[in-house]
Order: sequence, then C-alpha cells, then structure tokens
Amino acid sequence: MTMTHPGLPEYWSLIIIGFMLMAVIWVLTTPTPVRTHTSVSSLVNISFFGKSVRILIANRWILISLKLVLVGFFLLIIIAGLFGTPIPERNIATVLTWNLWWSGLVFSVFLLGSAWCAVCPWDTLSQWLVRRKLWRRAEPNNSLNIKVPKWLANVWPALFMFIALTWLELGVGITTSPYATAAVSLLMVVLATASLAVFKRKAFCRYFCPVGRTIGYYSQLAPIELRPIDNETCENCKTLDCYHGNNSIEPCPTWLVMGRLTQNSYCTSCGNCTQSCPHENVAWRFRPPSTEALHSARPHWDESWFMIGLLALTGFHGLTMMPFWEMWMSQLAQTIGDSGRLLPSFTIGLFACILVIAVIYSTLIEVTRKISGTDMAFKRLFSTFSFVTLPLAFSYHLAHNLNHLIRESVGIGSVFLNPLGISTAPLSMMEKYERHMTMWLSQDSIFAIQTALMIIGFWIAVQVIRHRGLNIATSNSNFAAFKLTPMLVFAAGITGFHLWLLMQPMIMRM
Ligand code: SF4
Ligand code: SF4
Repeated sequence: MTMTHPGLPEYWSLIIIGFMLMAVIWVLTTPTPVRTHTSVSSLVNISFFGKSVRILIANRWILISLKLVLVGFFLLIIIAGLFGTPIPERNIATVLTWNLWWSGLVFSVFLLGSAWCAVCPWDTLSQWLVRRKLWRRAEPNNSLNIKVPKWLANVWPALFMFIALTWLELGVGITTSPYATAAVSLLMVVLATASLAVFKRKAFCRYFCPVGRTIGYYSQLAPIELRPIDNETCENCKTLDCYHGNNSIEPCPTWLVMGRLTQNSYCTSCGNCTQSCPHENVAWRFRPPSTEALHSARPHWDESWFMIGLLALTGFHGLTMMPFWEMWMSQLAQTIGDSGRLLPSFTIGLFACILVIAVIYSTLIEVTRKISGTDMAFKRLFSTFSFVTLPLAFSYHLAHNLNHLIRESVGIGSVFLNPLGISTAPLSMMEKYERHMTMWLSQDSIFAIQTALMIIGFWIAVQVIRHRGLNIATSNSNFAAFKLTPMLVFAAGITGFHLWLLMQPMIMRM
C-alpha cells in the first residue's frame, strides 16, 4: 500500500487565488515606480554583532572545520551506500542525501544564499585531490589550466546535467537505492576533480554543476549577499586580490571581481575574497530579497534556459509524486509498446514537461512583443522576462519540499545510531503511519506556510514582471501596464498549476 501526504485544503487555496486576483488588478492599475535606490545593510556595521562577523569572515578555520565535518558525512554516505543495507529508509546514504540534504538544500538558499557551495564536499575533495593542499594556495596548482572553450563556457552543460540528474532521481529511482546514491555522489566528485585537473579555476562550479547553478540562480532571491563594505575602496583598488588571490589565498574560483559584482549567481560564498582582500573590504550584507531578479541580474540566453528548465523540472518533480502519475505512465507505455521499467515512457514525460513550459513561455513572450510593439529582439525579451520563473519555481520548490522535510524526517535519528542499517527490516506500515502522525510541525502550520510561500512567490513574480517590463517602456513610450498581460497570464497559470499539484495527495518518498 502506498502512503500519501494530504494535499492543501480548498480554503487555503481560495486565499491564494483571492490574493492572485487582487495582485493582478493592482499591477494593471498601478504605474511602476522607477527604481532609485536599494537599501542594504552590511553585517559588519551592525553594533555588537559586527565585530563577531568580522572575526567570522576573517577566520579560515571555521570554514575548514565545517568542510571537514561535511566531508566526514559524505564519506559515511559512500561507505553506507556501498556496503550497508539496501533498505532505503534504514541506510544513512539515502536518508541523509534525499530526505535531509536534497529536501533541505533549497531552504538553506532561502536563508543563506549560496552558503552550501562554500562547504560542498564534492568541491572540497576535488580540491584536496588535485591541489593536494588542505587550505593554502597551491603553486603549482597541479592543473592543466586550460581555458574553458567558448562552446562550453555557458550553463548549457549544467542544464543537461540537471535533466540527467532528474532522470536518475525520478526515472531510474536512485532515491530508493543506497548503492546508486553512493555511486552518483562519487560521480560528482569524479566530475569536479576532472574539471579542476583540466580547466582553469573552478569551471565545474561555474558552468557544469547542476546543484551549484540551481543554488546560484535561486540566490538571486536571497536576502543576503557578499559585497564590498565600501564601494569606493574597490573602485580605487589596483591589486584586485579578490580576483587574482594572493600568496596564500586562491583567486576567486568563478572569475569574479568583488567591486563589480552585481549578482549572486556565480558567487560560491567560498570566502577567498573575504580573506585575500588587503583592505578587509568584503562582508555579508542584508538586502531586500529578490532585488537581483527585479533589477540587477543581467539577462543571458543560456541562463534563461536554465531557469525555464528549473521551473519545468520543479513542477515535474511534483507531478511524478502524484498518485495518478503511474497510471499516466502505464497508459503511455501501452500506447508506445513500452514494457519493463517504463523508462522510455518516463523520458517522454520528462521532455514533454520541459517542452510544454518552454513553448508556453516562448509563445507568451512573442505575444508580449507583438502587443507592446517593442523593438526588442525575441531572444532579448525572452531572457529579460526569464527572471519571473525564479520566484515561481522557488516558492513551489519550498512548499513541495516542506512536505518531504517535515513529514519524512521523523525518526531519522535512528539511522545515525546504525548508519549502515545492519540487521534492520523495512519500515512496517504501522511505523510509517506513526511517523506520519508525529510530525514536528502541525498539519495546519504546514498548510499555512505553503500558502504563504505561494502568495510570496506570486507577489515577487508580478514585481519582476512590472520592473522588467520597464525595459519595454523605455523602447516604447506608448507602453501601458495591460501590455504585460501575457506575462501575468504566465505567472498566474504556473502558480495555478503548482497550486493544483499542492492540493493533490502526494506519495511519500520512503
Ligand atoms: S574586494 Fe578588496 S581586493 Fe577586491 S577590488 Fe575590492 S578592495 Fe580590491
Ligand atoms: S572569491 Fe568571493 S566573489 Fe568569488 S566565489 Fe568566492 S566568495 Fe564569491
């Protein structure tokens, strides 16, 4: 028997729909103010707190200790996955990777931006393997230092890897196989190591890693950023240690100059610049969430496709956990004569989902172009509005993962006592039911948070549409808010689809 999580009740959904209607009316009737200033607040300038932040930023041992802890857990996952029980809910490899890390990662972005990348064990291990230094700069750095060829210096590889990872996760079902989980984790280390050994700096983090790119783009919505404390100091800086590194600190792994940084997308929060800057001019600061998606992030064709893919795959994740998904797949399999594990049917479903979202978005972009009369080329408008996908994907991603995190993390403490799950039996239906009933957050609280997330996601999406819409206004003086209607239809349609998914019962992962 399959256990399911209950869907969002109708009354919560009506609140979301009511808010969406009001937001759309408001956008269509209210002129968009031109942005004048974004207020930010550097953590080092906060009284009492600031001094501790300075110590934290300058102290490399805190980061190294965290990396060691994460590498320890990573090695445990590998050992447990390769040599432990194949029962997924009893093996720490699957529980830690999928129930805790994969579900919780997106929440870390919500609070800490790209902080995960700073302690990522794939990156740490590849660094140790290639550079053979625990933390100091390695000279020579044992890499071929080849410049990433132009055809590869974009995020298309990350998008393809993201699709492949989704295929492995949901199609092949590695989430229920500790062995496959360990194998894929090792594969990530191999890829990161190969990239570091061949290419300059950390091309893997910048161009290839699907997790890093997902975190990077979602970080555009994060309420924190790593930036110069004083912009003028950076403007007058001649050494650019943040970019080049110094005798003991590595350069910025993703080719960023702190003084020119306008978006979080490629910052891995590695802390190199905070430690190498001779003026101690780099620190975390608070900012209004989503300010990058609204204003400062620059549109790029490959990045916009990654964001569209992210939106499509997030919805696809939800779709495959609906009770009717298997029935759909069986019907498709019968139609195309697919037998066995239904992987061809799943693959068709996966690509169909991406295609449908891409076609709907492209069509609405073209409609926007036509009715606004803008002279912007299709590709440029496509990239400009693609930021709207971020809050839509992120809010549903959080709402969906909240179910996994709260409802499926009950009782996972037991795997820490017996990580390899030696001499354990699968969870009985009674145990599953008991876990289901002893969540550490009440059901109504989960529904309330999911409702709030959907409302905030839609609100940020309409703000992105308004502010990015100003780009059309500058090239068409007759511009009026109603010309943004196709984009509003897109945001409302996607939110409606996500809402419908949330209202369905969802199959428990394990
Ligand atoms: S962060 Fe430091 S090293 Fe980099 S440009 Fe600014 S002042 Fe110079
Ligand atoms: S060096 Fe600084 S700007 Fe570059 S990735 Fe690391 S933390 Fe981000």
